[in-house]
Amino acid sequence: MQPTRSLLALVTAAGLAATLTSPATAGSSARPHPPGPPPVGHDLPKVPVMRGAGGAVSSVDPVASQVGIDVLERGGNATDAAIATAAALGVTEPYSAGIGGGGFFVHYDAATRQVATIDGRETAPMTYDAGTFTNPDGTAMDFMTVVNSGLSVGVPGTPATWQRASERWGTQRLGPLLKPAETIARKGFVVDQTFHDQTADNAERFSMFPETARVYLRDGQAPAVGSVFRNPDMARAYRELRTKGVNVLYSGQMGRAVVDEVRDPSTASGVSVPQGEMTTGDLRAYEARDLAPTHSTHRGLDVYGMRSPSSGGIAVGEILNLLRAYEERTGEQVADLPEAEYLHWFSEASATAFADRNRYVGDVPGVPTDELLSEDFARERSCLFDEDRAMTRPVPFGSPDGSYEDCADAAGTTRLPSDGQSTTSLSVVDRWGNAVSYTLTIEQTGGSGITVPGYGFILNNELTDFNFVPGTAGVPDPNLPGPGKRPRSSMSPTIVLDDGQAYLSVGSPGGATIITTVAQIILGHVDPGSAARRRGRGAPALVAQRDRERRAGDLRGTDRRRAPRQGSPALAEP
Ligand code: GLU
Repeated sequence: MQPTRSLLALVTAAGLAATLTSPATAGSSARPHPPGPPPVGHDLPKVPVMRGAGGAVSSVDPVASQVGIDVLERGGNATDAAIATAAALGVTEPYSAGIGGGGFFVHYDAATRQVATIDGRETAPMTYDAGTFTNPDGTAMDFMTVVNSGLSVGVPGTPATWQRASERWGTQRLGPLLKPAETIARKGFVVDQTFHDQTADNAERFSMFPETARVYLRDGQAPAVGSVFRNPDMARAYRELRTKGVNVLYSGQMGRAVVDEVRDPSTASGVSVPQGEMTTGDLRAYEARDLAPTHSTHRGLDVYGMRSPSSGGIAVGEILNLLRAYEERTGEQVADLPEAEYLHWFSEASATAFADRNRYVGDVPGVPTDELLSEDFARERSCLFDEDRAMTRPVPFGSPDGSYEDCADAAGTTRLPSDGQSTTSLSVVDRWGNAVSYTLTIEQTGGSGITVPGYGFILNNELTDFNFVPGTAGVPDPNLPGPGKRPRSSMSPTIVLDDGQAYLSVGSPGGATIITTVAQIILGHVDPGSAARRRGRGAPALVAQRDRERRAGDLRGTDRRRAPRQGSPALAEP
């Protein structure tokens, strides 16, 4: 494959980005740290937009982004760099993601121009059923009681995702890609305000679990900003994954430690929490699944995302489809709307898409993915839209039955689920034009609060993403717990192609707001001049090449497949 020189513009706010050709400027090297062995640092500037060529990494943490950049620099591809960056995030962002969690990996292969995905979502134990999270009287169990318990912990999918991605697309062995994470865990990193605040916010519940308090608290408090945080237990976990393979989790000693802790969490004296039901058989049965992506189009671009058990690809696509359907209906253009009207349009489209995902999307057979993403369905659903009034919430769900008329039969409504605010997302592009968008999580910030003894990582509480009781009486709920089932997600790692080439790699943290964030980032880049552009700017994303109008002009009459990737950057201003 012939390397092309990709010109990249990276946009980050919560995120930090790096490109291979970016100038090295002061990063954490300027930060103070106490005496002792130096922590792992980075050499990256903190800027909202960075432009460069030859590859790029965008993540929330500069130390982790540096790990990805180092992999690209040594000749690794986007998948290699994404795995190494994700593993590093497991150390520096241990409350958002890590070995004990799950996620969704979206990959664009520049050679075949295909997008493919891996579903690394956690699974419920085989003993779970629709009543697992209900009290004897049929009411829902207290949410936070379930969060801080073994009952919320699903079988982790993240190490299996790394292995599967590496097998499918990687060029470097998985073991060495995990080495930087092990080193960061052992040598430590400098505590920043976010790490401090996230620890402080969780200190009370971390104190319920002595192992978590031992690893993450200092005398019961959050580590100070500027201090060095080391996690030798997590270094051990990475060393075992690196040297013995991920089966230490799925069929080895690490897995037995997970199961023991889930089934009988060690708690502080006087604290008791519900026990989980995970078995070593559940771990052995785990599989990171290859899934076809969802596909929709927007303004001639191809938008690829995650299908069920995530609702991300469907909901993002439906929002974009609805906005174009509103344009047809009103004769106005999203790009011309004043901000208040844009927000009205966007919130109506979002509420409609959420109504449909709540009713139809979950880890069940027969999710009507193609119908939910069809433009005819969006046209039918757009009949509820009124330019001057907001629809009554909750918005009724539609009928994605393949037969569309002017207006849907409003079949009913479902309650909006609650969602947390956690998770992390990263984007990578390499010199060959391959791209990755990878979103991973342990659900709540701080997950279940349970740390696996001797291994230093926190277990997820992903199973609280199931609905504890049916959303609406009499309406089928696709997201009730079940044996081996994966809870519905909002995670929306997305890759947008322009004429078969990667144009945008985007993802976000933020629970249910992941969907609306990702949709706005896409609008912000694709609908020039719109209020969406202002709002979509400033979120982590990775934009390839050039602005589309200019590119179309530059390349008219040439063979686009062989045209070098150059032109004006995608963003004109920082
Ligand atoms: N568990 C959430 C989901 O899969 C992500 C966690 C969060 O961001 O709150 O949608």
